[in-house]
Amino acid sequence: MDCVFCQIIKGKIPAQLVYEDDTSVAFLDINPTTPGHTLVMPKAHHANFEEIDEAGLAAVMRAVKKVGQSLKDNLGVAGYNVYENNDPIAGQVIPHIHFHVIPRYPGDGLELWPQGKYESGEAEKILNKIKIN
Ligand code: AMP
Ligand code: ZN
Repeated sequence: MDCVFCQIIKGKIPAQLVYEDDTSVAFLDINPTTPGHTLVMPKAHHANFEEIDEAGLAAVMRAVKKVGQSLKDNLGVAGYNVYENNDPIAGQVIPHIHFHVIPRYPGDGLELWPQGKYESGEAEKILNKIKIN
């Protein structure tokens, strides 16, 4: 059974196409966070960052850049956010990797995530675990 984004890519269900090339596609999110909220993704089905190869990722990021530029040029916005929810714990609902490109308008109400503080020594412990040598 195809995922919903594969069905859109195959033309089986409709979408409002913003951009398409050989390997990537972008269409309007059906439930926009702000007007112009666009989803950019590879045409090939890969669930997440771990599944897509570097060439595929580079190609989709080129498409993200083009879409972001179109939002700036044609909606008159001064900036946009790029989000990717990687896996269900991070809020990924559709397991076909996609980048949310969300144009930002003054007073649009989109809040970024909360931030805290490390306890003494905690940052060093985390760093020792995740540092890539
Ligand atoms: P995520 O939570 O990162 O997996 O995001 C999935 C996004 O896909 C949500 O923002 C939905 O609003 C959007 N979405 C779901 N179905 C469709 C559809 N048929 N066309 C366009 N966007 C969709
Ligand atoms: Zn898919």
